[in-house]
Amino acid sequence: MTKSGKLYVVGIGPGSYEDMTIRAIKALEESEVIVGYTVYIDLIKEHFPDKEMLTTPMRKEQERCLLAIEEAKKGKTAAMVCSGDSGVYGMSGLILEMARSEEDLEIQIIPGVTAALSGGAVLGAPLGHDFAVISLSDLLTPMELIEDRLRASAQADMVICLYNPSSKKRADYLKRACEIVMEYKNQSTICGLVKNIGREEEVMAVMTLEELRDTQTDMFTTVYIGNSMTKMINGRMVTPRGYKNV
Ligand code: SAH
Repeated sequence: MTKSGKLYVVGIGPGSYEDMTIRAIKALEESEVIVGYTVYIDLIKEHFPDKEMLTTPMRKEQERCLLAIEEAKKGKTAAMVCSGDSGVYGMSGLILEMARSEEDLEIQIIPGVTAALSGGAVLGAPLGHDFAVISLSDLLTPMELIEDRLRASAQADMVICLYNPSSKKRADYLKRACEIVMEYKNQSTICGLVKNIGREEEVMAVMTLEELRDTQTDMFTTVYIGNSMTKMINGRMVTPRGYKNV
């Protein structure tokens, strides 16, 4: 059966053009129209000047998905862009749910470099062993479940990577998360954070868990809490695989 339209759901990585995959670039080049949150469209538009760009504000995720689906249903090749990877706290699941009865639509998901990985590379090698990724946003997830997952991961001595560590409305969430983690992890555990990965004003810092507890972050920051083996080497955060004699 021939499909009538094509929709790419594209993870554009952390922000810079260089951090996009070649497959993501090719999908956007092939698209006639690109849909996305204003900030992400601003990040890519200079590289795709002849494309029609449709933007929607943040928090209008369903509207944005519907817009992308409608464009593709017109028979066009459309792309919806997400930061990092579109499947990691992103829109690809929502697109597949909302388009479940659109049998004529071909939907292709293009993976991107998620913040855990791009920020990890800035810090050094914090994710060298088993790790858990937890979002502190309770917009769509009950706080009790977030706290249970923090406890379980900390108890299992996982490296923990935190997305959405805080926002204006949730200023003390990171502090609370650190307090929970400290029930199981030593306060001297090596931690790190990276703000604005791959964008202008990228900043990173390595510190102890106790220091992290008293640090203010924002929604453009990704946070890393090490395991009991994580060390600081020349200012960088390293979680060893476990090789001897290094
Ligand atoms: N789909 C995205 C994640 C969206 S959730 C991805 O795969 O990366 C939004 C959270 O991701 C932010 O609160 C922050 O914790 C993290 N994040 C996304 N892009 C970032 C960047 N450029 N710099 C730092 N953190 C980022």
